[in-house]
Amino acid sequence: MTTPLVVAIDGPSGSGKSSTSRGVAGRLALDYLDTGAMYRAMTWALLQKGVDLHDPEAVASAAEAVQLTSGTDPQDPTIHVDGTDVGEPIRSEDVTGSVSLVAAVPRVREQLVELQRAIIGGSEGIVVEGRDIGSTVVPDARVKIYLVADPAARAARRAAETGAVDTVAMEAALARRDQIDSTRAASPLAQAEGAVLVDGTHLTLDEVIASIVEIVEIVESAG
Ligand code: C5P
Repeated sequence: MTTPLVVAIDGPSGSGKSSTSRGVAGRLALDYLDTGAMYRAMTWALLQKGVDLHDPEAVASAAEAVQLTSGTDPQDPTIHVDGTDVGEPIRSEDVTGSVSLVAAVPRVREQLVELQRAIIGGSEGIVVEGRDIGSTVVPDARVKIYLVADPAARAARRAAETGAVDTVAMEAALARRDQIDSTRAASPLAQAEGAVLVDGTHLTLDEVIASIVEIVEIVESAG
């Protein structure tokens, strides 16, 4: 019996990972897990508790008490903190501005990676998006994609999603988050070994989805 298909999609902020991953999961009738939403939900919970996010020890110990639940339907992905639906507040500026601090804490990563692996292990086939999926969470994933786009394209996409008008400020904010994400000691953002680089700068969303579906089909037919 072959093991369930895992498609790992990593890449920097604003590269179009979420729309792409949901689209690929929908096309291939797979589950979908947004690990960024888990780090965001943890950040939301710690902000609610008034934890000092610059204190890694305080962050790690408060995080242990937080219960996250992720729904894996690509048509309706959900995220709950201790039973509360936080799908909307985790996209707030407060959370976006602080999430990289929380995600840099090794014990938080261990806690969330364990949860991610449990969800992936319980699935019959799943697309998982994040920063460290192909490198750390599922290094033996059958398909690994590293999705990039140039900074201006990423900023324009994020601005359109969030309604922000200042794309220069958006580009700076994305660059700041990437800087923290790719220089942290624990599982930094990087193209994993064996990952296929897909550059979406000059492609439509449908074209990016189609090219990843094609990669999955080639890998599956070869295996
Ligand atoms: O993908 P998204 O922008 O929602 O991710 C929010 C933040 O969560 C990232 O900037 C990063 O700090 C963190 N993250 C991570 N590892 C993942 C997914 C997200 O460190 N697998």
